[in-house]
Amino acid sequence: MAQPQWDYDLFVIGAGSGGVRASRIAASHGARVAVAESFRIGGTCVIRGCVPKKLLVYAAQFSDDLAHAADYGWTIAGATFDWPTLRDAVARDVDRLNAAYTRTLDSNHVAHFLDHAEVVGPHDVRLRESGRTVTAGKILIATGAWPVVPDFPGADLCLTSNEVFQLASLPARVVIAGAGYIAMEFAGIFNALGSAVTVVNRSDAILRSYDSDLTERLLAITRARGIAYRFNCGFERVEKAADGSLLVYLRDGSTPIPADAVLVAIGRRANTDGLGLESVGITLGARGEVPVDNDARTICPSVFAIGDVTDRVQLTPVAIREGQAFADAQFGGKRAAVAYDAIPSAVFSQPPLAAVGLTEAEARAAYPDVRVFTSDFRPMKNTFSQRIERGFYKLVVDGATDRIVGIHMIGPDAPEILQAAAIAVKAGLTKADFDSTIALHPSMAEELVLMR
Ligand code: FAD
Ligand code: NDP
Repeated sequence: MAQPQWDYDLFVIGAGSGGVRASRIAASHGARVAVAESFRIGGTCVIRGCVPKKLLVYAAQFSDDLAHAADYGWTIAGATFDWPTLRDAVARDVDRLNAAYTRTLDSNHVAHFLDHAEVVGPHDVRLRESGRTVTAGKILIATGAWPVVPDFPGADLCLTSNEVFQLASLPARVVIAGAGYIAMEFAGIFNALGSAVTVVNRSDAILRSYDSDLTERLLAITRARGIAYRFNCGFERVEKAADGSLLVYLRDGSTPIPADAVLVAIGRRANTDGLGLESVGITLGARGEVPVDNDARTICPSVFAIGDVTDRVQLTPVAIREGQAFADAQFGGKRAAVAYDAIPSAVFSQPPLAAVGLTEAEARAAYPDVRVFTSDFRPMKNTFSQRIERGFYKLVVDGATDRIVGIHMIGPDAPEILQAAAIAVKAGLTKADFDSTIALHPSMAEELVLMR
């Protein structure tokens, strides 16, 4: 029998959401696959992203639930919170998932190397620690992204989302740079767990990509919950005080903010440093991203890229879908381009918000006739609450076709409700379809079919 031309049919660099899916599916199509991972199998989402974050969000929600419990007649005497107990429980679950992802690779006969990989030719990958070079018919770059930390004095004293899950103790005072996904989620977590939180952003907006009615509501509610905001400014420097605490100096010259932890969350840059892509003629984009066509192919015909490293939509389900489409197309003979319209997303803030499709502003720029329906309601669970936190839902409709082009929600369980509602936007359902659907009562989701 002739020797195969390459060591593997596919070599994947990065065993995260996209890389693991691509490896597993390519192997299931009969390809000989290997993957290299420089940190832990599972990648950002599983090890230090979505999953451990969501577990912290659940912990934070107990703070609200305990307050509500008293309103509903329960006496919860002496409730206290212990950060190390939560941190260690989360770490154990991450270990469990890391083992499960490793087993998935094994059971699909995907070889894995715990090593940093670099591209040294169109079919050649060098493993840094072992010094070994392997060859493959195709190479898939799935190396994800990395937190951006600007170069200011004291940057080394700050945390990123990489380190925040391992804090020794719950910081009494937290300052966060940025007002995007990570900043708003961790502001909500720390605030609910009892820390004093200050969010500092370069602009006067939070979560800029979301509908402004939602973000204004989130800003008002989180302010009422005690989160402080400093807008239109940035960090000048961070210093360590004699007692070990930190002082954050802002560029506006205001009094420095004392802190016990400082989190920098100003975006994630494609993980391409030292990857050797220039050796195969790839010119990286301005944010270090790998440019690809609709089939995930780079300018080098044997090298492909998926997920955060391409800096299109930095979300786990998108990386997974891109990995699946790549493996199906290259090894399964099935071409299925990824559709980037109507991708649902959520921010697991307190309260959470979720959206799919166009914001009202985007729709007004795209369509001549836009109709907007809103519901501003008090979630029933908050009936007895001292806090006046209202939910807000918005439907954005193309007037010419009656098609719903955007759904925007803030309120308890908004992400859970929106996942189902997103199917309606993807399917092109109309406002009349929503109107003709009978409400499920009493629920918050019924507001979706009751907006007139
Ligand atoms: P990753 O999952 O990042 O995997 C890339 C892997 O490549 C990593 O394991 C890395 O160690 C490895 N690697 C890098 N370079 C090399 C190399 N040279 N050699 C070998 N290995 C290498 N998305 C959501 O959809 N929902 C959420 O709730 C959500 N929450 C998040 C919370 C946080 C705190 C963060 C940081 C992100 C969150 N995300 C969320 C985003 C999500 O984690 C990413 O979009 C997703 O993980 C991207 O998958 P990927 O396969 O492209 O990259
Ligand atoms: P985001 O892109 O969400 O937000 C970045 C924030 O930092 C914005 O407030 C932005 O301000 C500010 N900013 C951007 N550049 C600079 C700069 N050079 N100096 C100072 N401030 C700056 O980034 P995150 O780090 O929060 O998250 C990265 C990505 O990870 C997200 O985009 C998302 O795709 C993914 N993620 C998804 C989650 C989810 O699905 N729930 C949760 C966590 C992460 P402004 O916009 O005002 O200019």
